[in-house]
Amino acid sequence: MKIAVIGTGYVGLVTGTCFAETGNVVTCVDVDQQKINKLNAGEITIYEPGLEKLFLRNQKEGRLKFTQSLADAIVDAQIIFLALPTPPGADGAADLKYILGVANDLGKLLNPNNYVVIVDKSTVPVGTADKVHNAIVASATIHQAGKNIEHCFDVVSNPEFLREGVAVDDFMKPDRVVIGTTAPKAIKVMNDLYTPFVRQGNPLIFMDEKSAELTKYAANAFLAVKISFMNEIAQMCERLGADVDMVRKGIGSDDRIGKRFLFPGIGYGGSCFPKDVQALAKTADDINYDFKILDAVMDVNAMQKLHLIPKIKKYFNNNLKGKHFALWGLAFKPNTDDVREAPAYYMIDALLAEGATIAVFDPEAINNTISVYGNKIVYANNQYEALFNADALLIATEWNEFRTPDFEKISSALKNKLIFDGRNVFDPAQMQELGYHYESIGRKIIS
Ligand code: NAD
Repeated sequence: MKIAVIGTGYVGLVTGTCFAETGNVVTCVDVDQQKINKLNAGEITIYEPGLEKLFLRNQKEGRLKFTQSLADAIVDAQIIFLALPTPPGADGAADLKYILGVANDLGKLLNPNNYVVIVDKSTVPVGTADKVHNAIVASATIHQAGKNIEHCFDVVSNPEFLREGVAVDDFMKPDRVVIGTTAPKAIKVMNDLYTPFVRQGNPLIFMDEKSAELTKYAANAFLAVKISFMNEIAQMCERLGADVDMVRKGIGSDDRIGKRFLFPGIGYGGSCFPKDVQALAKTADDINYDFKILDAVMDVNAMQKLHLIPKIKKYFNNNLKGKHFALWGLAFKPNTDDVREAPAYYMIDALLAEGATIAVFDPEAINNTISVYGNKIVYANNQYEALFNADALLIATEWNEFRTPDFEKISSALKNKLIFDGRNVFDPAQMQELGYHYESIGRKIIS
C-alpha cells in the first residue's frame, strides 16, 4: 500500500518505518526541515533500540521516504496517518491545533477521485475523528468548491500503544491493535494493513471511533493509577517499616493484579502519561463528571517526583547551599533519549533552587538536556566522572548500566558514601554490607 505519515517524531518515525518493513511504500512528512534533512541523509533523529537498522534498510530499498511537502506525500496515498503532537493546552485539554491544521490542509489537497483512509494515530480526545472529518469538509468546501470530497475519505481512530524504548517490538508485535471505524471500506483497508502484524494471533479490535479514542486514554490513565497506587503503598511502607519489594511480590503474584507496573519510584513522566491523565480529567470536567481517581493520581505524582528532596534536605540539616550532587539518569525512563516531563528535571530544578550544584550523566539524554539547562549544570562523559567530589549520588532513571556499578569507584569519587535512589536499583542488603548510607523508595533506610 502507499502510505503517508504526517509528523515524523517518536510515533511517526516508528510507524512509518515499521509499515515500510512489511512492504508498504511510506512517505513521512514533517514541518521541521532539519529533521527531514537529517533523515534524508540517512541519519536517525531519535534513539530507539532496533529502529536504525530498519530505517536504513527500508530507506535503501526505496520504501521509506521523507519530505516537507504534504502535497507530495499524499499523492496516490491510500492511507494518511496523523502522528502529530497533541500537547496540553492552558486548560489541560489536548490542544488539537496541529491535527486540525493538517485536516484543513488536507481539505485543500485531497483528490475527490481517490478514496483515502485518514487515521488519527495521535492520542486525541473523544470526538476528534468527527472534528477532523468536519474540518476537512469545511476546508474542501472553500478550496475545492463543487467537488464531492465528503465521499472520498473516512476518518479512523487508531491509537498507538507503543512504549518508547521497546517501540519497534511493540509496533511489530502489538498486544492488540485498536481500530475505531464503522465504515466498511475503511475496515477493509485497516484490516489488510495490520494483518501482517498480528500473525501470532493477537487481536485487531474494531470498534466505533469514540470508543477507540477513549480506549487510549483509559489505558494510559489505568497504568498511571497503578504506578501512583504503588507509590502510595511505598509511602505507607516507609512510615510503617514494611518493605515495598515484599509487598510488590506478594500482590503481583495474584493474576488479577499482575507483576508489571508495580515498581515504586519518583513518579511517572514522559510525553504521554502526564498529559493524557490531565486531558482525560479535562474531558470528564467538560461533561460535569467528577473523575476523582484522576485528580488523586495527578496529586500523588506531583508529590512523588520530589519525594527524594526532603530526604536529602533532612540528611544535610535542611541546608543544600554549596552542596554538590551527582545525578545518574535524565531520560524519563531507560532506553530512550526522551526527557519530556522527566522526574530528573524536577529534581534538578528543586536542587538548583536550594543552592546546590549538580553533575549529571545519562547514556542517551545528555544532548536533549544541554538544550534545556545549558551551563546551569555540569555534564559528565560517563557515570563515574559525574561522581567526582559529589556529596551524594542521586539516581533518577533505572538504566541497566547503573544496576551493577563498581562500588569502589563510586566510594572513592564521592565525598561521602551516600546514595539516594529514586528507582530502587540497588539491593539494600548489599549497600549495608558496603557501608553506604542508602535511601530508596518504600524500603528501610540503610545507614
Ligand atoms: P513528537 O513531538 O515526537 O512528534 C511530532 C512531530 O510532528 C514532530 O516532529 C513535529 O515537528 C511534527 N509536526 C508538527 N506539526 C506538523 C505539521 N503541521 N505537519 C507535519 N509535521 C508536523 O510527538 P510523538 O511523541 O511522536 O507523539 C505524537 C502523538 O502520538 C501524540 O498525540 C502522543 O500523545 C501520541 N503517542 C505518543 C507515544 C510516545 O511514546 N511518544 C505513544 C503513543 C501515542
